[in-house]
Amino acid sequence: MSPSSQRIATVYDQVIARNPGEHEFHQAVREVFDSLGRVLTKFPEYVEESILERICEPERQIIFRIPWTDDTGRVHINRGFRVQFNSALGPYKGGLRFDPSVMLGTVKFLGFEQIFKNALTGLPIGGGKGGSDFNPKGRSDGEIMRFCQSFMTEAYRHIGSSVDVPAGDIGVGRREIGYLFGQYKRIANRYEAGVITGKGTSWGGSLVRTEATGYGTAFFTEHMLGVSGRSLDGSKVLVSGSGNVAFYAIEKIHALGGLVVGASDSSGAVHDSEGIDLELMREIKQVQRGRISEYAERRGSAEFIEARPVWAVAEKHDVDVALPCATQNELDDDDARLLLKAGVKAVVEGANMPTTPAAIERFREAGALFGPGKAANAGGVATSALEMQQNSIRDSWTFEYTEARLAEIIENIHARCAGTAEEYGVPGDYVAGANIAGFTQVADAMIAQGV
Ligand code: GLU
Repeated sequence: MSPSSQRIATVYDQVIARNPGEHEFHQAVREVFDSLGRVLTKFPEYVEESILERICEPERQIIFRIPWTDDTGRVHINRGFRVQFNSALGPYKGGLRFDPSVMLGTVKFLGFEQIFKNALTGLPIGGGKGGSDFNPKGRSDGEIMRFCQSFMTEAYRHIGSSVDVPAGDIGVGRREIGYLFGQYKRIANRYEAGVITGKGTSWGGSLVRTEATGYGTAFFTEHMLGVSGRSLDGSKVLVSGSGNVAFYAIEKIHALGGLVVGASDSSGAVHDSEGIDLELMREIKQVQRGRISEYAERRGSAEFIEARPVWAVAEKHDVDVALPCATQNELDDDDARLLLKAGVKAVVEGANMPTTPAAIERFREAGALFGPGKAANAGGVATSALEMQQNSIRDSWTFEYTEARLAEIIENIHARCAGTAEEYGVPGDYVAGANIAGFTQVADAMIAQGV
């Protein structure tokens, strides 16, 4: 083992010992550390300055009680989190996730990823993340509002447009951001638009923010395919998930000439050989908040595959591109084999860490292109940073202009990842490219700013 690899292994062991039971956080750290061997050899100052140790320890972690009242008058208690991970490049920036699976380790894995993702955007934002184990499913509007207000009653004292700027993630969309912002404004008695992003476009939000993560993932895919002379045009694509990310990824893939033949939600998948009808999807998933099985009932060309992930569609159809856009570790080694058998050439992560390490390894061995989330889904947070810019200058930009800025940012991220991978002798390895480019930028800023 080289001294660098030795050092990485030692620090990794320390991270596990210090953060017991936080498996997703360990996984995220390991994935970054695996890319850093050559970096530490080339830049011994990162070792001397203990950057690995420092970057794995959040600057601040806040855990709080969230009491709220349901529609029958019963009081519930949930747990709230905000992890302010790294502020070397700017105010902490990252979304809030409301889901019963959320615990400290979840927020730490997401916050850790966010540090490097945000660095890759080239915009001045640090890394943070937050959320709660609250389950929004089946809750009324009033219950959601009271929960969000209670969350912000504590969170407001920790955030600010130059301090920490939350946004949405799973379970937190436009409605929740509205209730959260309203409560901040009420308590702080100031209209500080830049305190949160993902706002409604009539009250300080940015056009394209809703579409940005999905669009960005499609743009990134197009750049990756372009390197080997391919394109989305004519490609058969599977997209998992039915939230904003998946939805707008599908829209942009269709606009770029691809055909999305499979989509999913937590109840199962649909196979639609004629391509997903987005209007029908929108009506079922976004307007009625219903199940995807209804899509198959209402569309002749589609069939429902119960309780299976969308990757099961690869048993029935050729697949060129797969976009996991639902949640962490949703695409495992068995799924990877299935996709490879169906001919997959590129896998691009719209969600955060949706592919298991074994599946990534399988794609790598098979020579399939792999785009990691911290690069491929950075369009969402990048457009949040554009929202902050508009809030600062009290302006709002057109859809066309904002989308062009997003497209340019994604092109730069792709070029940076590809260029860094090339420079470090691993051409085409976007995982290494993204990790090294993000890490070195943050590490240099941390050294410049002292201990
Ligand atoms: N939750 C999104 C992400 O994972 C967006 C965060 C933001 O806009 O601040 O990057």
